[in-house]
Amino acid sequence: MEEKLLAELSGHASRTGYPLNSEAFARAMDETDELRYLREEFRYPKMKDLPCTAEKSDEECVYFCGHSLGLMPRSASSNINRVLESWAQMGVEHHAHGYLKAAYCELSPKNQMARLAGCHPEEVVIMNGLTVNLHLLMLNFYRPSSERYKILIEGAAFPSDMYAVKSQLALHGYSVEEGLIQLEGRGDSDIIDEEDIVEVLRCEGSRIALVVLPTTQYYTGQVFDIGMLTEVAHQQGCLVLCDAAHSIGNVTLKLHEWDVDCAVWCSYKYLNSGAGGAGAAFIHRRHLKKLPAVHGWWGNDTATKFLMKRDFEPVPNSADMYKLSNAPPVLIAPMMASLDIFDRACEGKRLRKQRLLTGFLEYLLLKMSSSGLPLIQITPRDPNRRGSMLCVKLSSAPENLHSLLQERGVVCDVRQPGVIRITPCPLYNSFMDVWRFAQILGSIPTDSRIANE
Ligand SMILES: *Cc1c(COP(=O)(O)O)cnc(C)c1O
Repeated sequence: MEEKLLAELSGHASRTGYPLNSEAFARAMDETDELRYLREEFRYPKMKDLPCTAEKSDEECVYFCGHSLGLMPRSASSNINRVLESWAQMGVEHHAHGYLKAAYCELSPKNQMARLAGCHPEEVVIMNGLTVNLHLLMLNFYRPSSERYKILIEGAAFPSDMYAVKSQLALHGYSVEEGLIQLEGRGDSDIIDEEDIVEVLRCEGSRIALVVLPTTQYYTGQVFDIGMLTEVAHQQGCLVLCDAAHSIGNVTLKLHEWDVDCAVWCSYKYLNSGAGGAGAAFIHRRHLKKLPAVHGWWGNDTATKFLMKRDFEPVPNSADMYKLSNAPPVLIAPMMASLDIFDRACEGKRLRKQRLLTGFLEYLLLKMSSSGLPLIQITPRDPNRRGSMLCVKLSSAPENLHSLLQERGVVCDVRQPGVIRITPCPLYNSFMDVWRFAQILGSIPTDSRIANE
């Protein structure tokens, strides 16, 4: 564990007067948590309402799956109902009146979204879903020539990103063998060494048209130094497209300052906007002088959009010119509910709590591993190289690890045998959730049928 983080946690332990490895410490941390009140702003699932819990009680579960689907802000339903009511009361007049005026609804979250993405509001557009936006951006930013046509991506990228990239290559007539360079970790490590990315860029950069990188890796939780990597890529003349799905609302993003060319993300993970919620994209200011490759009426200048002109007039100097279709107010409504909570939390407080919460989880897991639980942490130990999520591998996990955890009220992610992804979210999770998780994990027999040998 990183020394500075351990010292910080130990400092809190001496302040509370309880040992770090104790329930009393967790309770004391919750009592002084400045963001504790925010849990009430969410519908936090109870044991009785989850499909796989053994005990159907009123007790709260341990929800550690915010990296997959963030919890529902309580005001999401009232916001959605306000949209429905405006529609009900006014019909088409809802386009310009009532709550989240339908014709402009996607403009409402722009300022808040820009703050979370670290960019100017005109560089953000709220539209579609992540994969659709990835394709739209590649239509604009992947323009291969006979000298420069390759795409650089991590081999273990999120499947949808990989499918999108491979299909774009095919669209331009390139095979995967010709056109794709895949980054891998060294040996059997899942972590990609940034030096290796720099090396590939220095050696093959002149052939690479587009670099597709996650800002935070979805599976390992590794956070990349995007500013440095973008600089190297630009020196080689490559464009950089980032996937920020696992960063937005989780770790600090500085998309503008890092100088990336464009980025995409979804809103249903750390942004708590509901499954299939509206996605977003970033396009750096310097690219906003040029028309997008494909046009639709929603990207037309608001002043003339409803004049139904024959020629497209883009929203000037704004990523909004990339919009194609009428935006959905019922999807923007829950996003507003969540972004308002982010505003109340303030980034500094949220990140401070995140560091300690995930650090506490890491510490308890380390304790368990030193007392015999065979556990390997895949996520980097450096708190600056990760966000809320920890990905760990239990080498002697029983095959039914996931259902054993679910029965006991833990909601987390098990994708490969014995590999779990656990995410305490600073907006709605507590130090007691982390403590309870560790107790539950410790109570699971690991000597039964051994999987993944
Ligand atoms: C969650 C996630 C997606 C999902 O894409 P959708 O189009 O929103 O379904 C894609 N890529 C990454 C890296 C993700 O984390």
